Amino acid sequence: MEIRVTLPHHAYTLTIKKGWLAQIGDWVSRLWEPQCIMVITDDTVDSLYGEQVIDSLRRAGFDADIVSVPAGETSKSLAMAERLYDALAQKGMTRKDGVIALGGGVVGDLAAFVASTFMRGIHFLQVPTTLLAQVDSSIGGKTAVNTRKAKNLVGTFAQPDGVLIDPDTLNTLPPRRIREGIAEIVKSAAIADADLWQRLAELESEQDLLAHAEEVIAACCEVKRHVVEQDELDTGLRLILNFGHTIGHAIENTLGYGVVTHGEAVAIGMVQISRAAEKKGQMPAGITASLSDMLTKFQLPVTHNDWPERALYEAIRHDKKAAGSDIRIVLLEDIGQAKIETLPIEQMTDYLIRD
Ligand code: NAD
Ligand code: ZN
Repeated sequence: MEIRVTLPHHAYTLTIKKGWLAQIGDWVSRLWEPQCIMVITDDTVDSLYGEQVIDSLRRAGFDADIVSVPAGETSKSLAMAERLYDALAQKGMTRKDGVIALGGGVVGDLAAFVASTFMRGIHFLQVPTTLLAQVDSSIGGKTAVNTRKAKNLVGTFAQPDGVLIDPDTLNTLPPRRIREGIAEIVKSAAIADADLWQRLAELESEQDLLAHAEEVIAACCEVKRHVVEQDELDTGLRLILNFGHTIGHAIENTLGYGVVTHGEAVAIGMVQISRAAEKKGQMPAGITASLSDMLTKFQLPVTHNDWPERALYEAIRHDKKAAGSDIRIVLLEDIGQAKIETLPIEQMTDYLIRD
């Protein structure tokens, strides 16, 4: 399955095909001339897929090497970026050469950041291996590293030359990570694709979803493509991708990363904001119940016992998306149709009240 992303200054294709990682060399040959390639990955993904990727690239005639960073969010740092610049320089890479980001969203954001800044920008490809990266982070051209105090504070907008999604890589992904991706899939359907919602409603379980991974991932990529094509630089519509994330980020920040995963926090965030909006008459009745049923079916939480309301509100106030004294939040007009509301930040407290 192929999806073409067309932006004013750049177009590229997302290729979604089971089993294609083993043939990555052939896929890259269609995009790039023979050249130096640095595959950037993390230790976990390296041990699972590194060798087959390098073998395939070398068989296709590329001068390919691999460099890996420790798995986990802490690798998304300027210090790690600098280590990678050194690795690229040591390999003698020039602006005609390219980087391949092989891994989850951490590697995707970091490697793309490095590629887009090394020598003022070299070519790169995204090869996402987590469900979250396959449906979300590898598409759209946002790159980032964290600073000591803030997540994703430093980054660029830079689009890859192509994205290769092999759903077979999900076979090695732990269930909690799979569910993280499912939270974003449910989000995509809720904000922009009623047909996908219907399709998800027909599925029985996580396993059932994975059996249909290609079509589900493609539908999510379509949602993201559509939004990004209209708002590449995140000045308007792209905000709808943030459904559930204002409260979700506050939960992650307040309860601590790792207590709940990003996906779990977003699942709770989507249900919380919908319930509050429904009570205020800003959303049609019944949507919260549908969301909650859908997420529960896929074993995602829809609430959390520990609910430090005041701290959540403070976390939202400090979020960079709160511009001045107003905040923009994403609600649903209906399943498959998002809307953006702007309100004074103080009113966020209304959306944090629990029954
Ligand atoms: P991650 O990259 O840390 O991957 C999660 C874990 O899974 C890691 O330990 C990794 O080693 C392991 N892993 C990866 N692929 C595997 C596989 N196939 N089998 C077994 N293990 C595998 O986390 P993530 O959830 O993929 O991404 C989170 C990051 O994405 C965050 O930093 C977030 O800010 C970023 N993000 C970026 C965007 C964007 O638009 N750029 C959007 C959403 C999220
Ligand atoms: Zn998210």
